[in-house]
Amino acid sequence: MNEESTGQGRHVPLGSTIWAGLLGRCPACHKGKLYDGYLTLAPRCKVCGLDYDFADAGDGPAVFVILITGFIVVGAALLIEVFYQPPYWLHAILWGSLALILPLLLLRSFKGVLIALQFRHKAEEGKLVTGD
Ligand SMILES: [Zn+2]
Repeated sequence: MNEESTGQGRHVPLGSTIWAGLLGRCPACHKGKLYDGYLTLAPRCKVCGLDYDFADAGDGPAVFVILITGFIVVGAALLIEVFYQPPYWLHAILWGSLALILPLLLLRSFKGVLIALQFRHKAEEGKLVTGD
């Protein structure tokens, strides 16, 4: 039930697709590299030749990363303040650096997952259907 065709005639589990996205692998073969840098997509997969022109995650990964980072940083800051009451300069160092590091760690993986899911579900822009 959790399996769907990749468009190449084989079925892969959803977890495998998400894992490939987290690792920055090709959404079709799960072996080739998706990125050609930190967040720049490679033109195509060097293993299976899949063209990455279809991939457009848009603002999706940034939204997820902002929400998750905000939840973690604000929640941790509140808990530490309630239990330990550290000086404000320590809050600024701790949460300021975490708010910078966490998005850098998460963004690449989230972008990979959204592109892998886009490929899996064949998501693309809507098109007008003409009478032809
Ligand atoms: Zn591939």
